[in-house]
Amino acid sequence: MTDYDNFIGRVKELSLIGSLSGLMGWDQETMMPPKGGKLRSDMMAFLSSQAHSRMTDPVMGELLDSLESQNLTAEQSANVREVRQSYDKATKLPAELVEEKARHKSKSLQVWQEARSENDFEKFKPYLEKTVELTCKTAEYYGYEDNIYDALLDIFEPGMTVSQLDPLFSGLRESIIPLVKAISESPNQPDTSFLDIGKFSEEKQREFSMKVAESIGFDFNAGRMDTSTHPFCSGAGPNDVRFTTRYDEEFPFGCLYGVMHETGHGTYEQGLLEVHEGTPMGQAVSLGIHESQSRMWENMVGRSKEFWQFYIEEFKNCFDHLPSDLNVDTLHRAVNTVKPSLIRVESDEATYNLHIMVRYEIEKQLVNGNIAVGDLPDFWNSKMEEYLGVTPPNDTKGVLQDIHWSMGAIGYFPTYTLGNLYAAQLYAAALADDPNIPNKIAKGEFTALLDWMRSHIHVHGSKLLPADLLRQATGKDPSSDDFVRYLKSKYTKIYNI
Ligand code: ZN
Repeated sequence: MTDYDNFIGRVKELSLIGSLSGLMGWDQETMMPPKGGKLRSDMMAFLSSQAHSRMTDPVMGELLDSLESQNLTAEQSANVREVRQSYDKATKLPAELVEEKARHKSKSLQVWQEARSENDFEKFKPYLEKTVELTCKTAEYYGYEDNIYDALLDIFEPGMTVSQLDPLFSGLRESIIPLVKAISESPNQPDTSFLDIGKFSEEKQREFSMKVAESIGFDFNAGRMDTSTHPFCSGAGPNDVRFTTRYDEEFPFGCLYGVMHETGHGTYEQGLLEVHEGTPMGQAVSLGIHESQSRMWENMVGRSKEFWQFYIEEFKNCFDHLPSDLNVDTLHRAVNTVKPSLIRVESDEATYNLHIMVRYEIEKQLVNGNIAVGDLPDFWNSKMEEYLGVTPPNDTKGVLQDIHWSMGAIGYFPTYTLGNLYAAQLYAAALADDPNIPNKIAKGEFTALLDWMRSHIHVHGSKLLPADLLRQATGKDPSSDDFVRYLKSKYTKIYNI
């Protein structure tokens, strides 16, 4: 057996462990009875320790060393490069730190839930202080060149740095803040009164959104849609992709756009090549690129006029209490309502990134020691006022709202905004190649757009780093230009500004 075959055999076994965890995680959120929790966390911990010991096996290190000095194909090299990253991350941290982080995480998560429901930041404060300390230690072990935050960004978006993000984000902010202000002040606000007339049944919402997912190209013979409190997309591999949604009978768009979002994640997973299954070449490249797929289908497609030109009749047939004179224009404007608000997950496409920037600024300052955890509530509120013009009435609706910090996921938030920027850049490139895509969407044909994403993004797996993949697909460096252009052109029309 060659070194490469030995290496790939080990990598595929690691991937099987990942598939098992994926299925158990899905089951935990959708099917598991409440009393199953204790055994489930033991099962998950067992799999994770199995994966860790296999990844850190000295033989894996020897194989990587040997393969790095051999002549490999581009695909083989990509697999070696990606596993080297994981191996280094897994071996650089001392076992005591890994254990301490795991112990701290479960306690911190629990205290955060209490603190959030009791609006008591002081209760969470010592836990967040400890999280920041452990995160900084982790970053030091991983290593970085310029900024300690780079080591954290790299965990979620390989290759991303503060020096790339700062100009990207500040340029975006300078364009969005005045746009949002003009939208808020416009007298031409959307009419959403059709939403107040009656209930949107869960069953009909399910039927309608599944139809949309299927038309986009999600293969229900290789995937499922179920219900969970927090929607997500996971599964075992390209032929077993599972996403979830939730229903609100007062408001049908939460489910619809949630489903279109997860369908974007799901079609990416289903579009990974089966020949590379179980290796990095057959895996999604980063959270930012993943989010580009979900945000593109949710916003650029789902919130377009063309989408509603095709779907309005079906929507009205599904929900027969809707006024018969409800037209495309009213629907299109209603689903593009922009309103600065306090809660990130409920925010619209135009203000969403400002919420992310508040978190980005805080994380960057925290790990660089420029602010203390105790300063967070005030810092949060003043940034919300500066960026969005709103001030939270309490910490539950402010600094305590997100789960990420309680889980130690510092460095994760920027991937959401990167996803939005990448989505606009990819969509613009697809339109440049095929200007008829919107006309096709207006006829309910999504294949041209999905095929473009398949050939430019999905089939490449983790062959290139995220920024290089984007460059190859669009011919440009990651930039906020296309996103800003997209927002301006859409909202100046909708709000007549
Ligand atoms: Zn997503």
